[in-house]
Amino acid sequence: MTNVVVLIKQVPDPGSERKLSDDFTIDRSIDPWLEEINERAVEEALKIKEANGGEVTVLTAGPASTTDAIRKALSMGADRAVHVQDDAIGGSDAVQTGLLLTYALGAIEGVDLVIAGNEATDGRVGAVPAIIAEALGLPQLTHMRKLVVDGDTVRGERETDEGIFELEASLPAIVSVNEKINEPRFPSFKGIMAAKKKEIRVLSLADINLESTDVGGANASTSVTGVTPKPPKQAGEKVVDEGDGGQKVAQFLIGQKII
Ligand SMILES: Cc1cc2nc3c(=O)[nH]c(=O)nc-3n(C[C@H](O)[C@H](O)[C@H](O)COP(=O)(O)OP(=O)(O)OC[C@H]3O[C@@H](n4cnc5c(N)ncnc54)[C@H](O)[C@@H]3O)c2cc1C
Repeated sequence: MTNVVVLIKQVPDPGSERKLSDDFTIDRSIDPWLEEINERAVEEALKIKEANGGEVTVLTAGPASTTDAIRKALSMGADRAVHVQDDAIGGSDAVQTGLLLTYALGAIEGVDLVIAGNEATDGRVGAVPAIIAEALGLPQLTHMRKLVVDGDTVRGERETDEGIFELEASLPAIVSVNEKINEPRFPSFKGIMAAKKKEIRVLSLADINLESTDVGGANASTSVTGVTPKPPKQAGEKVVDEGDGGQKVAQFLIGQKII
């Protein structure tokens, strides 16, 4: 049996236009959806449950509207959810988010494995899983494209620019997955109906023994102080091949100091 907790986040659809509020926090009311990499994390947890038995709990920290993303994960097959919801959380940085998820994990019994996404599409900090692992003194396997849980051991493959690494750790552990880990299942009609009855435990900061001064933009160690829109993409240079196309491309690459 392997009891898995999946860290899920609701983010604005990356395909839609992002809006920032006056304090440079993201406007989360625009096209919110369950972060795609977290759908894959849920899928991986369900596959581990199908292979080993156990339970799948999804954990999130976010505003009340996060319930939509939670229901999506429950309709895929997760057994229950824990939602840390408190107005004081708004604007928290990655360290604070890692801290509150660490404390929230303390409210869930018998956790063998925590699965997260390797990077969120809004903050793109790519550090929350590592922050939690450090805080709990747990082994961590990150950017995994393949995972197997065998008894008290989790092993698999990490993919980075340097190559493929085979890693393993003893449970309990925390892992983050990349987009190659699997293809998430679509919730069935039966799954969507069952999700309506599944438990969502809502916890405040006080429920997890944290103060409002431990979180939130006003207490964050990092903050976004300004944003400049990315310049529109320049049109590429057109090379007309009059028998000298190769030369022209080589000249262009030399000019760009690529070769
Ligand atoms: C434009 C912008 C820039 C930012 N820059 C910074 C910065 O430089 N430094 C900084 O400290 N903060 C920054 N933040 C704030 C940061 O996004 C939030 O603190 C966020 O909660 C954690 O960062 P992340 O989502 O990028 O985490 P990541 O580490 O990229 O997330 C990885 C995984 O952790 C899990 N996870 C992350 N957040 C949650 C959650 N709330 N609930 C459940 N699971 C979760 C998910 O599985 C996710 O896939 C920025 C935010 C924005 C909008």
